[in-house]
Amino acid sequence: MTTKIIHFMVNGTLEKAEFGVDCSAADVKDVFRAAAEAGPHHILKMYSMSGSVLNISAQLEANSEDSYYRLEAVASDQQGVRMPKELDAMEHRLLHLESKVLDDVGEPPEAVCDLMSQVESFKKKLESVKHLSWVGLFKEDGDHQLSKRSPKPSSSQLSAHEQQQQVRRKFLNMSSLQVTEEVREHLKTPVFDNWQWEEAEMLVLLQVMFTDLDFLAAFHIQLEVLQNFLFQVFCHYNNIPFHNFRHCFCVTQMMYGLIWLTDLRSKISRIDLLIMLTSALCHDLDHPGYNNSFQINAQTDLALRYNDISPLENHHCAVAFGIMAKPECNILKNLSSDQYKHIRGGMIRCILATDMARHNDILNKFKSIVPVFNFTNKEHQEVLMKILVKVSDISNEARPMAVAEPWLDCLLQEFFNQSDTEKLKGLPVAPFMDRDKVSKPSSQTGFIRFVLLPLFTEVTKLFPALEKHLLEPVRRALDFYSDLERASKQEQEEEEEKKKEGRTAAAGGGV
Ligand code: 5GP
Ligand code: MN
Repeated sequence: MTTKIIHFMVNGTLEKAEFGVDCSAADVKDVFRAAAEAGPHHILKMYSMSGSVLNISAQLEANSEDSYYRLEAVASDQQGVRMPKELDAMEHRLLHLESKVLDDVGEPPEAVCDLMSQVESFKKKLESVKHLSWVGLFKEDGDHQLSKRSPKPSSSQLSAHEQQQQVRRKFLNMSSLQVTEEVREHLKTPVFDNWQWEEAEMLVLLQVMFTDLDFLAAFHIQLEVLQNFLFQVFCHYNNIPFHNFRHCFCVTQMMYGLIWLTDLRSKISRIDLLIMLTSALCHDLDHPGYNNSFQINAQTDLALRYNDISPLENHHCAVAFGIMAKPECNILKNLSSDQYKHIRGGMIRCILATDMARHNDILNKFKSIVPVFNFTNKEHQEVLMKILVKVSDISNEARPMAVAEPWLDCLLQEFFNQSDTEKLKGLPVAPFMDRDKVSKPSSQTGFIRFVLLPLFTEVTKLFPALEKHLLEPVRRALDFYSDLERASKQEQEEEEEKKKEGRTAAAGGGV
């Protein structure tokens, strides 16, 4: 292909631009400048759906009408506004003063050193945030640089499309028969280690989950359609630190495990099991890596489209049904219209329930019915389905420490990316996402105490077998992170003490 099409929103209308891939950056900018009706002193800014700023050039990635960019002609071009002469003169005088101070005192005052180190640390943060690469400070990590030097094209040099096709070929060439009985059994427990499997293998394992629950036979799903569907689900997760395809795999695998551990097959209908497993699979589709608060505060297109009401969860669910709108990916195509309606309603309920803003409402509802729970009561069943999808969604800490801990790093990385962007944009920053305020232990002790334990305790009342699989590992994780938190507090106190002693000694010496 020699031309590409870019869909973009400008001044409230959806436009599209077509240009050759060998077009110069200046020509591309001119096209967008004209579309934005920008004057010579305007700066053009192109934003992706997630709100990241994109570089305007012929390398701009082609998109679709559904994933349009947003073009804005923002501030006045600084080059058009010359610095007044008086400011130039003042800067000169300051520089002169600075060199005099250095000559007289020998070293800059403490306040200046503090400022300099703050600037340095802010620069380091900018250097580590990939989506702020347009600032011009971003440095790739060592691995990337090594792979760039290697003569053979590495996977990071293939286009996203080529990488996806590689995964598809590998997935289709593998047979689910290659999955041993031992792995199949392991797949039914929370101790399963997701980090050992690559993407194509995770797709095979997802296929095994659908087949081992007899969904193919029960709902007349052709294997090829299931494989197309799973591959499209994989393609619609983004390459971001936490809410990626691996998270989708883990949540689905936990849902699968819960079905077996609670013997749910004997308690609720197969169609409801299909709803829960498919909801887990689709629950974070096309997550942009920025949460609902960001969407709402930054007034993103998603927040506008869904009127600030669970914008992400609404989007995940809409993307899921968008995938199934294609007959070759529609695992529900051989069902009756009543069955389809039931599944659609159930999936919408389960996916929308994963918005943590609704956590307490849903948990309180569940608490009120647990003492009188009845598997034949439709309302009770619907609440249970939401709860089990929610449990799967936030269950990393129920996994062995070696599996759970790397997930916390991924989550914090995504949180910090968001809060860094919020700081730059002047948006509100939640303390639990702020790299200056949270640590791994502080993040987990609160989350386990106030979110996981109350939720898992309630679920265990209904399914005592889960005590061993959910509650016990989470209690161990709480002990582990509480110990770490105490140790780091003690260390901090000791340091404070030392500083105080140092100051007292210095003051004493001066007398
Ligand atoms: P999700 O966004 O994955 O659908 O919903 C789960 C949300 O719960 C995450 O975005 C995150 O805010 C929170 N969460 C899940 N697991 C953990 C965890 O292990 N620690 C903390 N602190 N928050 C978590
Ligand atoms: Mn999730």
